[in-house]
This record gives sequence, structure tokens and C-alpha cells, in this order.
Amino acid sequence: MTAIVSRLAAPAPGWTARADVVVAGSGVAGLTAALAARRAGRVLLVTKALMGAGSTRWAQGGIAAALGPGDSPQQHLRDTLEAGGGLCDKAATRLLVAEGPAAVRRLMALGARFDTAEDGALALTREGGHLRPRIAHAGGDATGAEVSRALIAALKVAADADPGIEIIEHALVLDLLPGTSGRGSSRRGTCGRGTGGRLAGLTLHVMGEGQRDGVGAVHARAVVLATGGLGQIYTATTNPGVSTGDGVALALRAGADVTDLEFVQFHPTVLWLGPGRRGRQQLVSEAVRGEGAFLVDEAGTRFMAGRHPLADLAPRDVVVRAIMIQMAATGADHVYLDGRHLGHRTWERRFPTILASCRRHGIDPVREPVPVVPAAHYASGGVRTDMWGRTSVPGLYACGEVACTGVHGANRLASNSLLEGLVFAERIGEDIASGLPPWRDPAPDDRPQGLVSPDVRSELQRVMSGRAGAARDGSGLQSAADDLRRLRRQTPGQPCTEAWEATNLHLVASALVAAAAQREETRGSHWRQDFPYHSDAWLGHLVTRFIDGSLRSRFMAGADSAAAGGRQLDSPPGESQPGDGQSGTVNSSEGENERGHV
Ligand SMILES: Cc1cc2nc3c(=O)[nH]c(=O)nc-3n(C[C@H](O)[C@H](O)[C@H](O)COP(=O)(O)OP(=O)(O)OC[C@H]3O[C@@H](n4cnc5c(N)ncnc54)[C@H](O)[C@@H]3O)c2cc1C
Repeated sequence: MTAIVSRLAAPAPGWTARADVVVAGSGVAGLTAALAARRAGRVLLVTKALMGAGSTRWAQGGIAAALGPGDSPQQHLRDTLEAGGGLCDKAATRLLVAEGPAAVRRLMALGARFDTAEDGALALTREGGHLRPRIAHAGGDATGAEVSRALIAALKVAADADPGIEIIEHALVLDLLPGTSGRGSSRRGTCGRGTGGRLAGLTLHVMGEGQRDGVGAVHARAVVLATGGLGQIYTATTNPGVSTGDGVALALRAGADVTDLEFVQFHPTVLWLGPGRRGRQQLVSEAVRGEGAFLVDEAGTRFMAGRHPLADLAPRDVVVRAIMIQMAATGADHVYLDGRHLGHRTWERRFPTILASCRRHGIDPVREPVPVVPAAHYASGGVRTDMWGRTSVPGLYACGEVACTGVHGANRLASNSLLEGLVFAERIGEDIASGLPPWRDPAPDDRPQGLVSPDVRSELQRVMSGRAGAARDGSGLQSAADDLRRLRRQTPGQPCTEAWEATNLHLVASALVAAAAQREETRGSHWRQDFPYHSDAWLGHLVTRFIDGSLRSRFMAGADSAAAGGRQLDSPPGESQPGDGQSGTVNSSEGENERGHV
């Protein structure tokens, strides 16, 4: 039997670096965290590819914050909670909306230039689920590119002036380094023991030159995971190639709690360019509907009216379900977004990137409806944190899309993710500045090493898209779990980026499928066709942990449990758990206790 990999196989570290804080990832969250963490000590930012390679630079619509006249954090809170399907952590969400406006202003003070109206005030638009115009945007539909540009420039200026900040590109973080648990205790590594654990830094592979080339180790007092999303577990996604769920996978391997993985948001309107498209797909921002475009089917019939009070601007889960139902009813493999009435001036001024991209593919949105289809977009779940970005492993922080702060609940409100990255990365800086954990010596790491073959990647993506995508049911999830188990038996290759990524994708996909199989209800972006309604018994979070080679999950009752603790139950009241009907703990190891989910 092939066990789930406990540690990525890699050569022993051939070089060592040292920093008080090491930040992994250079999107909005990592860049903000690196700037904020300098208050605490020496900062090293490592990132898998070039600095701008993550999702951040692709963000189109903008950043949501109560910045406009007549708007308030209270109204932003109400819309966020409404979209979140009852699972948002209220304290964390309150904090997000309250600190949001100042976070956007700080970003502007750093140099980010947002679009303004004729009177010089910030131009604000609407997106799905927002009852008010509150989305600040840049370059029309190129907000992420501007956010990324401004933050990278600020970090580079800081690094040029300050030897206490260092950046390493093409540096793929492999695993966390367990640390010794202090004076008088055993020298055994404890990083993998969840909340009792300690870490000493991380291991990484650098495609560099000179001394920092190949596998190395960074010894650090705190590690900030800002590695972004996991969209690459699906065949078609808006996410770039670097979004392979590495942070969630390595946090699991380190014993950290991961939660809400079943809530993957599919974006309703991704440019449809024919069947069989793979990899990163072109998004057509919701802001296009915010400006007045609407969805129609092949016959030109508007199908969102009457399905939700906000019609085409309903929250994303509602729109995705409506599109898929409409496609099933008409037998079509896409629908259309009709924005012809916006006119060429609005298209050119507000959506220059989308317009150019459509035209490059021979579609002119000014003259014809744009073919669109849902695709995987955003992970609402991730590494579970408190309101200071702290995970269940002391010294390990997480922010941005890799984290689950609890603010998105079962379905993220549009344009809240850039904001979340800004707000919680700043808070990590503050927390670290108030006291870093002590240095720990690296402890011997006796976790067995392994790899999943890179050859499984495309089949894994097909399995996930077909059976754990926007629409799911119990038997599909069961067969997805069986297939994932089979895929991990394939002969692994040599340690290399493709194999490390495939191993991470496989672990994240396995944990996601297990959580999706357990949650026998429909809520937010988790649509179970065999359980089409909410169940109050499932009002809570599934928390997954990797223990002794197995994925185990427990149910935490109550919406506020993601960030603030909460009651832990063996099983949701009145609900049976898949597999045994009795216990809330699911063991995915291949042995006696196997429940067949992973
Ligand atoms: C097409 C698109 C449009 C979007 N539009 C919006 C929008 O309008 N508004 C909004 O709020 N949100 C939007 N989002 C979501 C938002 O962009 C992301 O959630 C957010 O940018 C994530 O930021 P991040 O810093 O967490 O991750 P990312 O920006 O994805 O950065 C992750 C970083 O981690 C690095 N990394 C990954 N793995 C490793 C590893 N093993 N070792 C080292 N480094 C690693 C990556 O290279 C990258 O630098 C959009 C997303 C997409 C894909």
C-alpha cells in the first residue's frame, strides 16, 4: 500500500540561510507581510517563480472596501455575511470590513494608483453580492497588476535601502523544518505535532546561481505562508500555473489545521473558447455585470431574473448553479454574457484588458455576446488562522488565499480577497513585532519522504473537475477518492518541481474530496446534488489534520469556529458521517480504519 507522503523527497539541504522571518510567496499577501514584518527583524521573502507570478496580478474587478459616500463597514459586513452562506466568522469579518478602508488608503500611500471619477474621488463599482458600489479598481480592469506593481516596487525600494530585507526568486518552498522543543525537552522534532509543535524554518529548492542553488534550508523564528490558491487541481481555472496548493499541503504535512477546503468558488464567467481547454483561462470580470451586462442562453433568454433578487449580480454560487442548470436544460456547453449595450466607450475605458483578450480570440464584446462558462477560481478555505494570522503550529502564520481566516465562509464575496490579503498580512506584521518566537534548532526529521509521479497531474485534474467540481454528489466523490488513491500508487519520478507540485496537488485534492464527501448538504459554493438544501446540523467547519500518515477531520460546530476556536463535536447533531454513520473523525490511511474518502 502506498501511504500519503509525509515529507517531500528531496536531497539534503546543501546550503543554509537565516532570517528572523521568512515569507513564502509574493502576491498581495506575501509582499504586504514582508513589508510589515521588517518591524520585527530580518526578513527573507522567497517565491516560487518571478515576483509577479501569482494570482494577484490577474485580479481584474478590484478591492472591496467601504470607501464611498453613504457606504459603511456595517453594510459591507452585511453583504459579506450574506454571501458567506452562514459560515463567516463574524469577528474576523467585522475586522476585515472595519480595517479595510485604511488598508486600501495605505496601499495608495505606497504608490498604487486607482481609477478616479471626474471630480477626483475614487471611482467605485459593484460586483455580485454587493448592494453598493464599493469596488475600487485600477487601469479599468487591471487592478491586480497595479496592486502587484506598487507592492513589488515598494519592497524592492525597501530591500535596496535595507540589508535586513532580502528576496529570492525561483525558490520553491518544500516543507517546514521541525524544531527542537526547547531546553530540557527531548531533541525530537515537534513541528508535526500540531498545536504542540515548534518550527525552525523551512526547506526550499532554488534555481539560482552560486551558493544558493539547489535544495537549502532557511532557519527562521517565524514562517509566513502566503503561497496563494489551489486552482491547478482543476483542468480549467482562472489561476496561474503557480497555484498548486503548496502552502496548504506543506501546512498539512507540518500538522497544521486546515479548514473549509470543500468551499472552492467557481467563477461564473470565464471566456469559453471551445471544449477541452486546459490550464489558466481568461476571466471576464463580474464588474462587467456590475456595469450592466447580463447572462443569456443560446436562445438569447435572460435566465437570472427571478432566480435571486439581485438577478445577474447574485452571489457567485447562485449564478454558477443557475448557469449549470441552464446548460443542462439546453444541452449547451456554455452560455453568453451580453454587454453590447454598454457601447465601445465603456468597454474601452472600463474593460480594456478583457476587450483586448476577447478580440484576440476573435470575439468582439461590443458587437456580440461573449461565450462564457464557470471555472475554478478561489479557495475560500485553507490553513486555519486566528485574527492575527496565527496557525495551530506556533511560529507558523498564513495570510491571503492560502489561509482561512473565516471571512469568506462558504462563499467569498467578490473582491474581498485582495482586501483580506492586505488586512491580515498587516496584522501578522503587528503580531510578529510584538514578540517573535525563540530560535529553535532544527530537529532530526524522521518523517518518511516520498513523491507522487508528475505524470498524474492531468488525470488528477480531470478527476477533480469531473467529480469534485462545481456540482458534486456522494458517489462521484467516492469514485474520485478511489481514483486519487490509485494515482498515488504510480511510480514516482526523481525529485523535481513537477513531482513536488504533483505531490502537493494530490494531497490537497485528497483532503478536499474527503471534506466534500463528508459535508452532506448544499451551502455556498459546495453544491451537493444529492443533498440540495442547507442543513442546520452542518452549520460549522470541517477541520482537517494530517496525523501519522492519515488525513483526519473533525467537525467544529458554529460559524465562528474557523478563527475563534468553537465547540468540537464528534459528529454534527442528528447527522451521520459518511462511511460509518457514527464518528466525526475520518481516517484516510490505507488500513483497517479506512473510510474510503481519500
Ligand atoms: C483571474 C483572477 C481574477 C481575480 N480578481 C479578483 C478581484 O478583482 N478582486 C479580488 O479581491 N480578488 C480577485 N481574485 C483573487 C485574488 O487575486 C487572489 O485571491 C489573491 O491575489 C491571492 O493573493 P495571495 O498573495 O494570497 O496569492 P498569489 O497572488 O497567488 O501569490 C502566491 C505567491 O506564492 C508563490 N508560491 C506558490 N507556491 C510556492 C512555494 N511552494 N514556494 C514559494 N512560493 C510559492 C507564488 O509564486 C506567488 O508568488 C482574482 C483571482 C484571479 C485568478
